[in-house]
Amino acid sequence: MIELYNTLSRKKEEFVPMEEGKVRMYVCGPTVYNLIHIGNARPMIVFDTVRRYFEYKGYDVNFVSNFTDVDDKIIKKAIEEGVSADEISKRYIAECKKDMEGMNIKPATKNPLATEEICGMVDMIQTLIDKGYAYEKNGTVYYRTRKFEDYGKLSHKNLDDLRSGERALLVTGEDEKEDPLDFVLWKPKKEGEPFWESPWSEGRPGWHIECSEMSKKYLGEQIDIHAGGEDLVFPHHENEIAQSEAANGKEFAKYWMHNAFLNIDNKKMSKSLGNFRTVREISEQYDLQVLRFFMLSAHYRSPLNFSADLMEASKNGLERIVNAAENLKFRMKNAKEEAITEAEQEAYAKTEEFVGKFEAAMDDDFNTADAVAAVFDLVKYINTNTSEESSAEYLKKLLERLTKLCDVLGLIVDKEEEMLAEDIEKMIEERQAARKAKDFAKADAIRDELLAKGIILEDTREGVKWKKA
Ligand code: AMP
Ligand code: ZN
Repeated sequence: MIELYNTLSRKKEEFVPMEEGKVRMYVCGPTVYNLIHIGNARPMIVFDTVRRYFEYKGYDVNFVSNFTDVDDKIIKKAIEEGVSADEISKRYIAECKKDMEGMNIKPATKNPLATEEICGMVDMIQTLIDKGYAYEKNGTVYYRTRKFEDYGKLSHKNLDDLRSGERALLVTGEDEKEDPLDFVLWKPKKEGEPFWESPWSEGRPGWHIECSEMSKKYLGEQIDIHAGGEDLVFPHHENEIAQSEAANGKEFAKYWMHNAFLNIDNKKMSKSLGNFRTVREISEQYDLQVLRFFMLSAHYRSPLNFSADLMEASKNGLERIVNAAENLKFRMKNAKEEAITEAEQEAYAKTEEFVGKFEAAMDDDFNTADAVAAVFDLVKYINTNTSEESSAEYLKKLLERLTKLCDVLGLIVDKEEEMLAEDIEKMIEERQAARKAKDFAKADAIRDELLAKGIILEDTREGVKWKKA
């Protein structure tokens, strides 16, 4: 049973999917006007790990995460550089994807772009107007916050508290609002800004409506998990709930998950404070696997302070795991015995304990810190319970066990082999295609090329098998 902390109830709750065996999950993605910093990387790594654990447990995960590609900051950057806003966002989406690949973040099922979903947003805003939850003033559309009775249920704020702080919410030029608590759904363009047609004005959507619409379009009106950094609880996620639940007449997301901040010198790392490090900078010094390991060494709801010391400790920790895997591979290659012995069977069975510990940690609100500790226990066990005398089969089973747990954390311990296996499979497929086309010269050439690389092919009744020479 997986338990997760739900910001909505402020409690750990058992995860019960809406549809058996399936998880529908939406994670708010970055605004793309710069290289991402390692604070932005925290939700990416954390929620990718959540997804991987669900998959490990047999769930089919539909994982949607947007890019906010229309925003004041993007427009500002475009003006500074004298290029289009589109050019800025496309550039930084591509750069962000490179960083994500380096951090071994699985590609989302879908990465919707706000600019490609404007039509749906306009429709949703119209629905809100029709239902009395929104109104238009001089081309701007506002959400009528007080009309939504549950407003504040996620951030646990009540409207009166918000009212006393309303000065902060009053933005210049928005004094035409019926109530200071109302927020923008659509705003008219200013000169030189990108815009879209709408019944109210040429303009663009507010930030909150983007996620309500994209989540609905790609996951449906109700989803299992909605996630992001804790700064998004209010107002972003609170407003998303108000919009989606008023428009669709249904509970929006069942579980709301929020990661704590990544700090530096115990202050939030952010672009506005200027105290950030980009993922790209870190990649010049470390393999991004080290960054991933660093992020997972803390529980996602605990603040994490970035420091050079912790990064070094993470590098060493990761090395310990990778070395154990390398040793297993080396011994496998040189093993004198093939088949596992009875004593080794027993020794292998004892490693169940570490898998149990790993799963218990992950079941408990994705406690990756404890899960990493379980992996270290397994590593220690492997190091003390294998030798030159071990059989290849025993070593292989241990390697598979270690690799499987590391894979949940998105840590690659078997890099070379994986790449190679993929390439070999591809060449075998090409050879099969050549044979089918009766191009035997090409088929033989591929076989010889593989042989030169130390790969032997065997044609068996079950298909082509390969092994290392
Ligand atoms: P933004 O591009 O600012 O909208 O942020 C994208 C995602 O990164 C959001 O989920 C934020 O909550 C998250 N985020 C931004 N800064 C930090 C930080 N210092 N620590 C953790 N998460 C952050
Ligand atoms: Zn969002």
